[in-house]
Amino acid sequence: MNYYYADAANRPVGPVPFTELQRLKSVGTIHDQTWVIEEGTAEWKPLRNLLGGSGASDELAQATPATRIQETKSTCQACGHVWFYGKQEVLTSRNDALLNVSKALMCCSGCIPALLIPTKTPIDLNKCPKCGSKASRQEQVVHDL
Ligand SMILES: [Zn+2]
Repeated sequence: MNYYYADAANRPVGPVPFTELQRLKSVGTIHDQTWVIEEGTAEWKPLRNLLGGSGASDELAQATPATRIQETKSTCQACGHVWFYGKQEVLTSRNDALLNVSKALMCCSGCIPALLIPTKTPIDLNKCPKCGSKASRQEQVVHDL
């Protein structure tokens, strides 16, 4: 089967075999949106349609990480309160904890009084914000946006 494709000036170029279309796409001469027509037919369609599922699934794979977010779901065993936290909160909490550690290491006689260094209280992400119980159950959840 031979094809024509539209060049930058929308002039049909060809005929070329399907394998040539694939080669032209791989070198960047034509792309997914390039109009192609099968020899002997009257219908122009985007190259993407011709190449079938591969192009579409590529787009899907690229779109997936942006439309899904992973979080941790915490359920309080004491009062049943449910809350969520994401990776950002975990990182922030860890950074705060690290700050406190380095502050403790600096604290000796003759150094800057520890009081001048603001204390950051790391948030205990697994502690129930409602009743304060630490008995909570964690599970990983993924949300589709
Ligand atoms: Zn609770």
